[in-house]
Amino acid sequence: MTTISKDHILIFTTEEQVNYLLERMLLSMGYTVALCDDYPSARESIKNQVPALIILGEKVEGGNGLDYALELTRVLPSAGMIYLVKEENPETLKNAMRAGINDYLCLPLKADDILKAVQASMERARQRKEWVLLEAKRATVNLQRRVDELETLARLGRTITGSLALDNVLSLIVDAAVELTAAEEGCLLLLDEASGELYMRASRNFQDDFVKTFRLPIQDTLAGTVLRTGNPVLLDESTPQKIKTSYLVQSLIYVPLQLGGHTIGVLGVDNRHERPPFKDKDVKMLSAVAEYAVIAIENARIYDENEQARSKLETILTNINDGVIVMDNDHHLLMANRAAFSIFNLNDEDHTGRKFEEIFNIPDLIQLVDLNNAAMASRAEITTENGSTYNAHVAPIEHVGLAVTLNDITYLKKLDQIKSEFVSTVSHDLRSPLTAILGYVELIERAGEVTPLQHDFIERVQNSVRNITKLVDDLLNLGRIESGFDSRKEAVSLDQLVRYAAEELLPAANEKRQEVTIDIPAPISSFFANPVQIRQMVHNLMDNAIKYSPEGNKIDLRAVVEYNQVIIQISDQGIGIPPADLPFLFDKFYRGGNSLEVSGTGLGLAIVKSIVEGHGGRIWVESLLGKGSTFTVVLPVEQG
Ligand code: ADP
Repeated sequence: MTTISKDHILIFTTEEQVNYLLERMLLSMGYTVALCDDYPSARESIKNQVPALIILGEKVEGGNGLDYALELTRVLPSAGMIYLVKEENPETLKNAMRAGINDYLCLPLKADDILKAVQASMERARQRKEWVLLEAKRATVNLQRRVDELETLARLGRTITGSLALDNVLSLIVDAAVELTAAEEGCLLLLDEASGELYMRASRNFQDDFVKTFRLPIQDTLAGTVLRTGNPVLLDESTPQKIKTSYLVQSLIYVPLQLGGHTIGVLGVDNRHERPPFKDKDVKMLSAVAEYAVIAIENARIYDENEQARSKLETILTNINDGVIVMDNDHHLLMANRAAFSIFNLNDEDHTGRKFEEIFNIPDLIQLVDLNNAAMASRAEITTENGSTYNAHVAPIEHVGLAVTLNDITYLKKLDQIKSEFVSTVSHDLRSPLTAILGYVELIERAGEVTPLQHDFIERVQNSVRNITKLVDDLLNLGRIESGFDSRKEAVSLDQLVRYAAEELLPAANEKRQEVTIDIPAPISSFFANPVQIRQMVHNLMDNAIKYSPEGNKIDLRAVVEYNQVIIQISDQGIGIPPADLPFLFDKFYRGGNSLEVSGTGLGLAIVKSIVEGHGGRIWVESLLGKGSTFTVVLPVEQG
């Protein structure tokens, strides 16, 4: 790096003799000297050592010295410049002044003249340099002050975003306001909506008692005016106005705290004693600080609101009787309420962040959560050790994870059981009188001749009694299956079982001239199931296929084993099922809109569904109105 050398002089001229003379004289005066005769070498020399003075000749290599004077002044504004002329020509000297030359020397050179000119130019250069340094220093001080102010503002910003303790933040804001405006004291006044007065929310250098009791009406006060108009106010002792502040001050600034077009308070600084007056720049600074105050107040309000809503929600969740468990997508517990823990007899300490499976080690619940796919809710009944039954429901929650709710349905289960037992008992009690009625009705015709009308009535009675008997049988069957009674499973030969069940119905199919094909490509042995129920299941599905298909149609039964599961499919080309009926088809007593002409109880498919579920399988139907239906049953091949 090059520095200005205060004793270095550059001589830039082609006059060799003059150069020689000057150099000797200047060296003897204690200066260092560099000699150049063209502009490039002059620039090079300046780069190596910056001169405090340049002595420029009239003639230089490649032109007139004055041609380079302006350029040199631009490169080295602080250096002095002396012009060396052969004779004093007013025109030349005028041009030299215009080109920024400070002095001139005229040939022949006299030691005394040189000394005076050099010293005077050096002195001017020194003064100029000092002035530049002073200016730079002043600018630096201003800049430093700006930097300090910006740093204070940035610090405030960080404090506001990093802290929710409003008292603390507002105190820091008032401190910053006082510091940045070099004021004596400062305060933040907020509007008390109830009384319509301003109170002091934060302050600096005010007495505590004064702060506590401070109340300022918004009429006829300066702060009130700022609040009402939303405009800042700057007052000092020269302002011809009585300062209404409720305390005596010499000068003050009030700026409004504005939120969404409303003024919610006032930030103020003041001086009670004489101090340098406040300036517009202080108002700007205070307005910037006021914006931070508004952000802090608004942040605190939003936080309070959220906190209240959160704690309300927490109270609700804690106190409801249903168990609620919420976890993220990786099954880390986010929250679980007291009920959830007490259902499984677990202690309800804070388990947040732990794996759900570790805390709720309930196989059925874990399976339900594992089965849950991101898009769909799923449910299962979970029975606890104390015999209570819960409806567990898993639902995905966007951006959160999964929520499990556990609803106690023990009383419903009990009710259902009582109802089933009642229906079973009644059905059972009805069966004997029904058999008796049927027997006696059959005997009527044997007891004597009956008229054709009487015969018709007898047939109607027989049909009705048979229908009731079928209903009673179906109810008894369903009751037995649902209660789990007689659900023993054994290794069965499924193909034989299916064949028997289907063949049982061949007479009914023949009567309607329907063709039944049974397709079981490979024997299905070692299948573990309840033979009576499987037979009943195939019977009901085949019975429906026959009932709901017109005469002469085709019915196909197909059974195969694929991927360790048995698939049984019964297809007909019958009347099909109206789409609106499809969701309810397997409900108890539900009969479709297509069944008007066909007798039935609405229990056949409910029984089938219970059997399928009892075997851990699934059933579904595909149907096209007027084209036919296909019922598919998939059962897992259980190992005995
Ligand atoms: P139902 O005694 O009425 O046959 P189910 O429970 O067996 O009772 O069947 C319920 C309803 O499903 C029937 O009323 C009928 O509307 C419809 N359904 C069942 N199987 C078939 C089928 N193969 N073709 C058309 N509709 C059927």
